[in-house]
Order: sequence, then C-alpha cells, then structure tokens
Amino acid sequence: MTVSSVNLSQVWENVREAVKDDLSAPHKTWLDHTVPLLANDDGFVVGVPNKWTLDWLEERLSPQLNAALKQATGSDMAIRLVVNQAAAQDYEAAASGTAPAPREEELLQTALLQDEFEPKYTFDSFVVGESNAFARNAALAVAEQPGLKYNPLFLWGGPGLGKTHLLQAIGAYVARHFPHRKVTYVSSEQFTNDFVGSLRAKTTDSFRKKYRSVDVLLIDDVQFMERKDGVQEQFFNTFNELHNHRKAIVLASDRPPKDINMEERYRSRFAWGLQADIQPPNYVTRLAILQQFVESQQVVFDDDALTYIAERATPNIREMEGAIIRITAYCELLKKSSVDRLCAEQVTCDLFPDCSHRPISIAMIQREVCRYYNISPSEIIGSKRSHSIVFPRQIAMYLSRELTDLSLPKIGSEFGGRDHTTVMHAQDKIKKLMGSDREVFNQVQQLTNIIKQKG
Ligand code: ADP
Ligand code: MG
Repeated sequence: MTVSSVNLSQVWENVREAVKDDLSAPHKTWLDHTVPLLANDDGFVVGVPNKWTLDWLEERLSPQLNAALKQATGSDMAIRLVVNQAAAQDYEAAASGTAPAPREEELLQTALLQDEFEPKYTFDSFVVGESNAFARNAALAVAEQPGLKYNPLFLWGGPGLGKTHLLQAIGAYVARHFPHRKVTYVSSEQFTNDFVGSLRAKTTDSFRKKYRSVDVLLIDDVQFMERKDGVQEQFFNTFNELHNHRKAIVLASDRPPKDINMEERYRSRFAWGLQADIQPPNYVTRLAILQQFVESQQVVFDDDALTYIAERATPNIREMEGAIIRITAYCELLKKSSVDRLCAEQVTCDLFPDCSHRPISIAMIQREVCRYYNISPSEIIGSKRSHSIVFPRQIAMYLSRELTDLSLPKIGSEFGGRDHTTVMHAQDKIKKLMGSDREVFNQVQQLTNIIKQKG
C-alpha cells in the first residue's frame, strides 16, 4: 500500500496511538507535536519541533515507530524524523495557549522550504580571512540588496573553499529577510536534468516559468554546463530574462569565467557584474576555521592537536571538517574528553596520506564498499531496504560526502536518483554510529584507507 497525502495524517495518527499506548505516562507527550510531512521512496517523513525531541525519539522509539508503521501500512517503509518549522510552531502555540493548526499543504511547503538551505551554511558560521573576505563581502552585499548590487555575482575557487556555503548563505539570508521573494538554489546539473526532463515530458513551458519567476537565482558549479549546448542556450535565455528584470543572479564555479569552455557570447555575460575569487585559506584562517568547528563539539581539542591538523590538512576545508568529525567520534568511543596531538595524529593518519592521489569518484567508493560488505553494485543503488543493504549504502553515501567534493543532489542522483535529504540523513546517521559503535568506526577507517590507496 502506498501512503498518499490524503491518508498521511490518518496513518500517522494510528502509529502515534499504537506507540503511545506502550509508553509510561511522563513519556506520552514526546509524540504530541509531531506532524507527518510526506511519504515517498525514501520513507515516511515526520516533522518534530526540535533536535532534542528528534534524538529522544530516534534513540528510544525508532523500532516501535517503524513496527507500528508497518502494521498500519503493510509496507517496509522507514520513518524519518526531521526538525521542522511547522512542528516547532505547533509546539510553541500549544505552549502559549494559541493553537492555529496549519493546513497540510502549508506543512509540506515549510518542509520543502526548510530543506532548500542547509542550516549550517550561514554568514555567521563563515569564518572570514584574507583569502575569502572579498567574496564573502560581495555575497553579503547581494543578500542585502538582491538585484541591485553586483549582478551577476560570479564566485570562483578550488574545491572545498566555501563557494556552496556562500551561495546557501545568500539563499537563507534572502529567505529570512525578504520572505516574499522567491529564491532558488540549484546546481547546474540539477538545472540540466530539469531541462532535459522537461523536454522529454514536453513541459518546457513550466520549466521556463519555474526558473524565470524567481527573484534570486543561485546556480552552483556552472562549469558542469560546459559542452552542453542546448542547456547553455536555455540557461542564457533565463539569465537574460532575469537580468533584464533586475533579478539577482549568483553563480559559482571552480574556475574563472575566462577558463570555462563555452561560447563567448555566453561566457561574456558572466563578466557583466562582479567576479570574486576565493583563495585557499592561509594557516591563520585554517586555524580559526578549525577553532570554530570544534567549538560545538563535546570534546576539548588541545591547541597542539589543532595546529597539527592545520599544518597537515590540504587547503580543502571539507577535509579539515572530516578530520574533526573522525576525531570526535573516536573520543566518544573511548569516552575521552580531550584530544591531544598524539590522538589527532593517530586518528587522521589515513586521512592525510603523504602521497598525492587522483580524485576519488563515487563509482570507486561504491565499488569498494560493495566488495567490503559483499553486496552487489545493483543492490547499493537499488531500492531494497533490508539492513544488510541499507547500512553499506549509508556508509557509501557518508564516504562520498567526505571524500569527494560532490554536492548532495549529485551524490543522491548517483545512488539511484535519491533525494539530497536521504544523503543528509545517511551522513548524520553514520556520524552518530561512529561515535557509539567501535565496529562501525573501524569499518569507516578501513574503507577510507582502501579507497585512498586506490585513488
Ligand atoms: P565548495 O562549494 O567551494 O567546494 P563548500 O562551500 O562546500 O565548498 O565548503 C566545504 C565545507 O567547508 C563546508 O562544510 C563549509 O561549511 C566549510 N567552509 C568553507 N569555508 C568556510 C569558512 N570560511 N568558514 C567556515 N566553514 C567553511
Ligand atoms: Mg560546492
């Protein structure tokens, strides 16, 4: 049986009642302000008011909730919890005694809006240094006066230096400060897929409408549009239309416009506004970024440990973040509350190999993960939901996120066309498991080692 939006509420109500019956009185309220949002291939998504509730439910009630869902629907669909604004409002309203219940479409809308920008990518969380100040200031100026300042803004720089972070920060800022303006973030691959899909389905009109009705268009990784002529043309029609109407356009790429392989008449548009490059951070900025990363962790990092990472890591900030996550998980396993240089060295020796290596691809990660867990390539991208397949699949998604520079939507699409939220969920899940299960931590370390050596 599939769960349509019509019976979404009913199904959730049944699940909730079934599980509540088994809870002791003080715990019955944990399920009170939860709202079913959607059900699709990836599971039954339920909004909860805060992270605290999410953790509690996941830790204590996950098996019961899934069993009750199975009972209610007869399917193996898994429940996925997300922190969601609608649930939070419901919770607050109940706490203050006013309770306007939002309608289902509104709930869905907030769920989708919420998903669009990653909450951790904001201007506040972006550490400013010499290498990125110019780009960051330009991005903030656009966010404050979309369409009026620097149109288009073209951000460029190497992988892991913060381009996506800045695009998302602009999006989140505009969504928050100008709620009536429509802001869309899209990778150029997603844009391409959308366009090709609309050609196939003969819905190019709605494609046009969708992209030309936005007020702020953020396009990531435009270099992927190279050599895709039909798409380039579509893109520039969109570009011209938006630009003529003084709508804001921000582009990001791994190289400057002059090095992008496109027809000159297209490429020259990029240079109409402002180009801002992001350079690799120097040692001081790397240290400042590391300090910010560790601030929110439970364990305390020695200065020596941080300087070790700042010295060894490549300029890729994503790699530095990966190192901190590994070390934190390791400490949680060993119940250590602080990290010294030796500990940092032990845990990250695989992450920072001395030899240079070829870039790692998702295909390669999938191949090695399949071999390691003895499953087939079609299973890792397929739709089976048994634990023996889901777990390796999530490990492979986690490693793709950590070891490649590819975006969430791109990773999702390489795993049988899954949604980017599925990848986010896998990443969180494995991160947590690494901190609680020694076996999982070791498997991730071993796989990293294998993959890095092949690279
Ligand atoms: P890019 O899109 O340029 O490849 P990302 O924007 O994905 O890089 O950045 C990689 C990771 O590093 C992200 O988790 C991002 O939040 C983080 N990051 C990059 N620059 C900064 C910065 N200046 N301050 C804090 N975090 C940063
Ligand atoms: Mg990026």
